[in-house]
Amino acid sequence: MNKIEHIGIAVKSLESSNELFSKLFGQPHYKVETVESEGVKTSFFNVGTNKIELLEATNEDGPIAKFIKKKGEGIHHIAFDVDDIESEIIRLKKEGFVVLNETPKKGADNKLVAFLHPKSANGVLIELCQERKL
Ligand code: ZN
Repeated sequence: MNKIEHIGIAVKSLESSNELFSKLFGQPHYKVETVESEGVKTSFFNVGTNKIELLEATNEDGPIAKFIKKKGEGIHHIAFDVDDIESEIIRLKKEGFVVLNETPKKGADNKLVAFLHPKSANGVLIELCQERKL
């Protein structure tokens, strides 16, 4: 695993949170992207060399809607950059982590992604992220 790729924050309203986080960071988000398969609309901010992703539910039964219902708004996941997501999935399964996506899927911001269940990582939802080669 390489560096932290981004931190994901679940929000009720992307519109008002974009405004809030623009004020916080002193700069606007650089993109908005909907991931239909996940039932989320996301926006991304650069903060120095770091990235923050805001996530709003577009679907009442999706993971973000469920998360907010259960826990309220807040940090949803930490994403780590990996070079080879498929071999990382195999490695982490061997180590006993519960991998939610055996086959990596298309995530926002041109990534292949897979998630590890929070129950196998001290309550933290972990996202593995590999840059997609175009
Ligand atoms: Zn993410």
